[in-house]
Amino acid sequence: MSSINSPIASGPLVRHKGRRAVVRYGAREIIIGGDAPVVVQSMTNTDTADVVATAIQVKELARAGSELVRITVNNPEAAAAVPAIREQLDKMDIDVPLVGDFHYNGHKLLNDYPDCARALSKYRINPGNVGQGAKRDTQFAQMIEAACKYDKPVRIGVNWGSLDQALLARIMDENAQRATPWSAQAVMYEALVTSAVESARRAEELGLAGDRIILSCKVSGVQDLIAVYRELARRCDYPLHLGLTEAGMGSKGIVASTAALSVLLQEGIGDTIRISLTPEPGGDRTKEVIVAQEILQTMGLRKFTPMVIACPGCGRTTSTVFQELADSIQTYLRDQMPLWKKQYPGVEGMNVAVMGCIVNGPGESKHANIGISLPGTGESPAAPVFVDGEKTVTLRGERIAEEFQAIVLDYVKTRYGKEAAAI
Ligand code: SF4
Repeated sequence: MSSINSPIASGPLVRHKGRRAVVRYGAREIIIGGDAPVVVQSMTNTDTADVVATAIQVKELARAGSELVRITVNNPEAAAAVPAIREQLDKMDIDVPLVGDFHYNGHKLLNDYPDCARALSKYRINPGNVGQGAKRDTQFAQMIEAACKYDKPVRIGVNWGSLDQALLARIMDENAQRATPWSAQAVMYEALVTSAVESARRAEELGLAGDRIILSCKVSGVQDLIAVYRELARRCDYPLHLGLTEAGMGSKGIVASTAALSVLLQEGIGDTIRISLTPEPGGDRTKEVIVAQEILQTMGLRKFTPMVIACPGCGRTTSTVFQELADSIQTYLRDQMPLWKKQYPGVEGMNVAVMGCIVNGPGESKHANIGISLPGTGESPAAPVFVDGEKTVTLRGERIAEEFQAIVLDYVKTRYGKEAAAI
């Protein structure tokens, strides 16, 4: 992505080219790692034992663009429900691979519910939550044996809220022996990275192929996450799942996740991402998928849905017309994408500008595929529309939004339709 001839380079600075892991369901193959595009994933918040509610939420997440969906498998009822959830999804033609999230009793559930073990496409194992003392190694081995038996990849997902306490104690002891002991923060980083890397090596010793392993080391602080993943990427070449754990609600969760992930992705670190947003009560779970896509798309790493460029507005535009138009066109574009991405390949790279006045409106609109420059306060009530840099029409009156939407649809059909591709 960087320019060879120009001194001004763009794109990720270094690509962390590691191994690739493949997650499969039916004919669907999701490649994580190597040179593959960064994969978007999400997690349900329904009771997994509620088959219908969980299948519906998985469907919503998949339709929003989640390429893997994780569900918690926390008890026998949840494990028994997993094959039925898969069946419901198959009936709805949703082929998104399901990932099972296991803590404490995963070894037992995978053994007692073989249909669950088969229906899942990947297992998440938290090495801090597989058991205490002598049971820890045995139960970890049982989960890895299940992954080998059913030929499933695993994510070894370390989380600082559930760090392996025995390993932490060992690293603290080693630190105490140093002539100049490390800080508590450095010890914590070391424990997180060591837990992930040692668990992966142990899984390989137990027979799981190295290309069936994905690692994560999630923490909730932005600087902590950057430091830990830089070290993890330095020490191993397994594909890495990135995410700021417990990112929080609303703009704080979005900003913190974006800040942390952008730095790492720019350094080429991270093969799959999840945004751990806390939804508002009754809020839409698909928000975490949209944020993940927007991070990747605004960084120029992937394209998912046409982007709307809109100015922030100022004293030159005191009406809400342009805000409403920007919002309605953005919603329209996203709603069309499940259909458009099949009918109009390449449409996800389209840019649409909605601008508030003459100052930057015509200029920005000319840079977009389609742009509209609405009249600011005191300007004549006319909205010129620009298509591929040329002014094509001027809209007036009460139906500007509908007419502009029709122009966008016409452009999509003409530019990205099958007939257009054949020309
Ligand atoms: S384009 Fe016009 S309305 Fe929008 S921010 Fe700039 S000056 Fe203000």
